[in-house]
Amino acid sequence: MEGTPLQDRRVPPPEAEIGSAAADALAAVPRSSPRVVLLGPPNAGKGTQAAMLRERLGVPGITTGELLRAEAASGTALGVQVKGIMEAGGLVDDATMGQVVRERLRRVEAGRGFLLDGYPRTLAQAETLGTILEAAGSSLDAVLLITVPEEELMRRALARGRSDDRPEVVRERMRVYREETEPLIGYYRRLGLLREVDGNHPIEDVGRALAAALAAHPS
Ligand code: AMP
Repeated sequence: MEGTPLQDRRVPPPEAEIGSAAADALAAVPRSSPRVVLLGPPNAGKGTQAAMLRERLGVPGITTGELLRAEAASGTALGVQVKGIMEAGGLVDDATMGQVVRERLRRVEAGRGFLLDGYPRTLAQAETLGTILEAAGSSLDAVLLITVPEEELMRRALARGRSDDRPEVVRERMRVYREETEPLIGYYRRLGLLREVDGNHPIEDVGRALAAALAAHPS
């Protein structure tokens, strides 16, 4: 008999087709819309992962670095000030950031969830976020931390070539991360919200690990 009739062809089950790891990760994505903070050092891949995770979860993203870069490009008085701070690797003040994030969160539909990337970056910001959410009768579901060894972060930063990626600025951003942002790890761990993911792997693998970490029950 010549050829194989279409109906007789062995069709693999869908899971086999897309790979069992991918199927697992898809199945692991929670059905509800979570309220999530993505945390990690500069160049850990937060931006890339935030874009992928947002799509996967179907939740709106709030990316403060992007919002601030847009403000800087607009040339307003605040924009000029923000641009200087960003180019030096410093942090925009907590009060300004609180206003930016409060305004964005107000526009997020209740019950739709969100993914915050780049905020909070200080303990004061974390407390402000808690207050904003509490006032809206809401709270965070999880804080995902992407970890990457420091040498790898430096290598990535220098390969990227953004205007705030000069070596001295990169070092300053790392220092600021260690001093201002790292304390958030303990803060969110104590609140039982922290879920850690190893970011020193290919982008797709980290994406799957983040989705799985979000779906897992809190430890
Ligand atoms: P990112 O793209 O998240 O690395 O942000 C770029 C720059 O924007 C940072 O280096 C800071 O200068 C500023 N920035 C972003 N988010 C915040 C924040 N939550 N608090 C203070 N400054 C921020």
